[in-house]
Amino acid sequence: MLAFFDLDNTLIDRRGGLEDWARGFARSRRLPGGSESVICERLRERAYPADFVHLREAFGLADDPGDLWREYVDGVARSARCLPGAREGLEALRAAGWTLGITTNGAGDIQRAKLAATGLASHFDGICVSEEIGVRKPAYEHFDAAAALCGVRLSAGGWMVGDNPDTDMGGASAAGLRAVWVANGREWASGPREPDAVVQSVAEAIELLREVKG
Ligand SMILES: [Mg+2]
Repeated sequence: MLAFFDLDNTLIDRRGGLEDWARGFARSRRLPGGSESVICERLRERAYPADFVHLREAFGLADDPGDLWREYVDGVARSARCLPGAREGLEALRAAGWTLGITTNGAGDIQRAKLAATGLASHFDGICVSEEIGVRKPAYEHFDAAAALCGVRLSAGGWMVGDNPDTDMGGASAAGLRAVWVANGREWASGPREPDAVVQSVAEAIELLREVKG
């Protein structure tokens, strides 16, 4: 059986890593109070090199935007942490015969750097990053490409685990997958598709998959 996982705020704590980085960056450039929240707000959903052209101007920095992007990629990858139980759970799923894939929206270099730094990459049969294939979740084509990268067919069915109601749960719907929503303390409000299951953490999601056994 196939299971796809979202990366940010599902398997790793992106929010915490971004806040840590923004704090350190603001300190290193002696930026005025409140700069951290401006940075976090700009990069809250996603970060791309173009965001650093904007931030450079907003803060009047002399740095080359390309250097700022690399500083961000290195810093965030260094501070990236797996959420509790993720690695052990993935290992157990694979041992039980599951095919595992990553489906993530974002820039290839930052997503790959985080997967490598956390040691998560080796737990997956395929890794699908939107920038690398040119299609973002929730598009069907993103999941179809992810299945191909895992060496399986999407039509055989499977599961999607993620924290985003639109891109992950909506994506599961487009791809014909069953959906587990990682609530991270939130209440399910609305979305393009009701999840099949709501859990509080990726560890709980993995536990659930181990019980259903496909
Ligand atoms: Mg996410």
